[in-house]
Amino acid sequence: MKKKLIAGNWKMNGSAASNEALIQALLAQSSGWNCLVAVCVPAAYLAQVRGLTQGTGIELGSQDVSAQESGAFTGEISAAMLKDFGTRYAIVGHSERRQYHGETDAVVASKAQRALAAGITPIVCVGETLAEREAGRTEEVVKRQLAAVIHANGHCISEIVVAYEPVWAIGTGKTATPEMAQQVHGVLRSQLRAATEHADRVHILYGGSMNAANASQLLSQPDIDGGLIGGAALKAPDFLTIIAAAG
Ligand code: PEP
Repeated sequence: MKKKLIAGNWKMNGSAASNEALIQALLAQSSGWNCLVAVCVPAAYLAQVRGLTQGTGIELGSQDVSAQESGAFTGEISAAMLKDFGTRYAIVGHSERRQYHGETDAVVASKAQRALAAGITPIVCVGETLAEREAGRTEEVVKRQLAAVIHANGHCISEIVVAYEPVWAIGTGKTATPEMAQQVHGVLRSQLRAATEHADRVHILYGGSMNAANASQLLSQPDIDGGLIGGAALKAPDFLTIIAAAG
């Protein structure tokens, strides 16, 4: 059975001092980990966190990647540059980027493609808004979002990580019940099975107010292969409890 993956999404939080304290606190407890662990840090801190985590059980991730390869795209960071920093994962299509930066399914698919081409595993986020859930459109929305990535990356789709993150659960303290999450994860697994014979290799993470108290129930669902953790990834004891629940 594949190991679960617990990835922290620090979002736009941290400082040189607090990053170091957080990583040291995690590493102090890392000897018994039985799952994959990653931290997706602000781009400005990739070099610092790489220095702190290189050769440890913590993998480095970015929170975004450019859909362009290189050139006149001020402010963008290419997949090749991220690779230079030892980046193993790149979050693409987080709902905050879809919402505040107008990222479409097509842009998210291109970002996943750039990451894969550079040897970086994209963590592709999908998820419905509250209005979409209440209108009974959850399946349609997540399938459309994932279909765009499958369409653009069919030949290597088993190399991605998927994160189901219901938008209404992100940063709100409202979590999908384990049954609600499993139901959507099952839909996503079936969609991947139709695209690749290696669908069972793909990690499908749950994200949305996963915390120390609810992690073990969510992670015990058959198609929940780990978590993408926002707020709770900033507190070492909480993140460590989630890691232990995944082991
Ligand atoms: C996220 O931003 O990916 C996330 C899941 O955030 P939180 O855990 O804070 O809901």
